[in-house]
Amino acid sequence: LSKRMKKSIEKNMKQSTLHADNIKDTLREIRLALLEADVNVDVVKALIANIKEKAEGGYIEEGVKAHQQMVKLVHEELITVLGKENAPLNLSKKPTVIMMVGLQGSGKTTTTNKLAYLLSKKNAKKPLMVGLDIYRPGAIDQLIELGQKSNIPVFEKGKQSPLKTAKQAIEFAENNGHDVVLLDTAGRLQIDKELMNELNELRKSTSPSEILLVVDGMIGQEIINVTNEFNSLLKLSGVVVTKLDGDARGGATLSISYMTKLPIKFIGEGEGINALAPFYPKRMADRILGMGDIETLFEKAVENIDERSMQKTMKRMFMGQYDLEDLRNQLGQMAKMGSLSGLMKMIPGAGKLSETQIEDAQRKLVVFSIIMDSMTLKERREPKLLKSLTRKNRIIRGSGRTEKEFNELVNNFEKGKKQVMEMTKMMKQGRMPNFGG
Ligand code: GDP
Ligand code: MG
Repeated sequence: LSKRMKKSIEKNMKQSTLHADNIKDTLREIRLALLEADVNVDVVKALIANIKEKAEGGYIEEGVKAHQQMVKLVHEELITVLGKENAPLNLSKKPTVIMMVGLQGSGKTTTTNKLAYLLSKKNAKKPLMVGLDIYRPGAIDQLIELGQKSNIPVFEKGKQSPLKTAKQAIEFAENNGHDVVLLDTAGRLQIDKELMNELNELRKSTSPSEILLVVDGMIGQEIINVTNEFNSLLKLSGVVVTKLDGDARGGATLSISYMTKLPIKFIGEGEGINALAPFYPKRMADRILGMGDIETLFEKAVENIDERSMQKTMKRMFMGQYDLEDLRNQLGQMAKMGSLSGLMKMIPGAGKLSETQIEDAQRKLVVFSIIMDSMTLKERREPKLLKSLTRKNRIIRGSGRTEKEFNELVNNFEKGKKQVMEMTKMMKQGRMPNFGG
């Protein structure tokens, strides 16, 4: 082949990886995914236009399939909008005052408690929570109750003016070694002047390091107006989007980031005390695109692991009982021990695996965990129940995974079970399996 012809073929091959037709198809898919994830329609339009321009502008990598290129492009675009990195709290001041604001029912009180708990666990802080919602009946009691669960003290002065209580609370914090003061302020059903004035006065007299708006991620399009109004008056330092539990796809975060440019610092994923996660743009981009929130799942497994469950599993294995519940516990345990790639290095023979193979394996483990999460405890304890087509279909639908992945899990489990049984037999005979190589 002449050099020139070779070049021309190469060029054509490159073009064929990403041309107008598959750009259009993929964009349609992505548009649907974004709308499904509840992203604001205007934001979707703007994003798609942006991506289209880039795709047509010759965003091409050799040897990568068109579809993958498009997904990568969109992924990068979403991450850019969502803020690239996690925006941490500014905790430098002593004490750090964090003011929580938002509409009634958005999750302020719950989030105040979750955040205080997180700061005490992760940052070894000594937080103080301050009940300032003197309007809603039972609001302060709610905070006190939550504080008992999280073991975080609550400062409150009943119906006394919030301004006065806040000042006293900061003084109390200074005198008692509390390095973070979280102000749980009052909300209203709608934004009103009186509330805003009160919040503004509070802001002026407590000079908070952080003013966090707590918004309900399920309120839909209204979320942008609410955020803008609070921001224009209080100059927010960040946003916490709540109620992004389970299958909520989190499109609200993208709308907020795009329209207000405020950093999202945390997301609420449930009512429990642990259900607050730092906001990671990359993970949210994955989630919005439906790629599975892999890293967060891993982190959860690490946090929630129970040391005893490992021992229990070992014991059960010795007794010849090994089911999907045990497998699930083990996967959690593996996640706790760190990344799979670190783990693999310790296993002889596994060193030959490439980084991509390890990544694939890791992804598979997550997929398996997701599928097992959609099973009932009974199904995990009695895997033979999974032969029922109704159950199988329900689990596949519930987990959002494919039949292929489901079958793979079941087959892997069967294979694994055999190995486990062999191993325990050997161990019972006093022959330890030879891991040393
Ligand atoms: P506030 O009026 O802003 O203080 O809101 P609350 O903290 O009292 O929360 C209102 C309701 O929303 C409560 O029932 C909370 O348990 C619930 N809630 C708050 N955050 C979340 C979350 O992330 N997920 C879920 N599912 N519920 C939440
Ligand atoms: Mg409240």
